[in-house]
Amino acid sequence: MLPQDIRDALRGLYPDSVLDNTQLEVTVPRLTGFMVFTLIAPQKWLAIGSAPSPGLIRIHPSYYAPKTATGLALIGHELCHQVQWRTVPNFLAAYTAEEERNIAGHPPWSNRFEAECYASEQRAATLLRQRGYPSRQALALPFCMCQGSPFR
Ligand SMILES: [Zn+2]
Repeated sequence: MLPQDIRDALRGLYPDSVLDNTQLEVTVPRLTGFMVFTLIAPQKWLAIGSAPSPGLIRIHPSYYAPKTATGLALIGHELCHQVQWRTVPNFLAAYTAEEERNIAGHPPWSNRFEAECYASEQRAATLLRQRGYPSRQALALPFCMCQGSPFR
C-alpha cells in the first residue's frame, strides 16, 4: 500500500480505489514496462518511474521525494497509469500500439496515454505547490518509453 502521507497528499487527484490498492516500491525501475525517463547527461537516460503491472509502481530512490510537489507528482504520473490499467480495455496492447506509432516517426506526445499522464503530473504538481508543498527541480520529461524502445 502507499504510505499514508502520500495517499493523503494525492487524495482527490486520483481515485481512492487506486490510492488504496497500489503498492509502491522505491527501487531502480527495471527496463521493461511503462517508464518515465529523465536525461541526466547528453544522450544518457535514466528510468525514474514505472507502472509495470496493475497495482504496482516503482520510483527510483534518487527521485523518490514524497515531501515535494514534483516528487508527489511523479508518483501521480504512475498512479495515472494505474487508472489506465484498470479502465482501458486491453491496456498493454493499446499502449504498445501507441508506442509503435511513435517509433514510426510521430512525436512522443502522440502517445495519448503518456500525454494524459504527463498532464495529470503537471496538474498535480501545480495543485500541490498551491497547497504549500515545496517544489523540487523538475526532472521528469514529458514522455515515457516502453518495451521495444531504443532505451531498453
Ligand atoms: Zn508514463
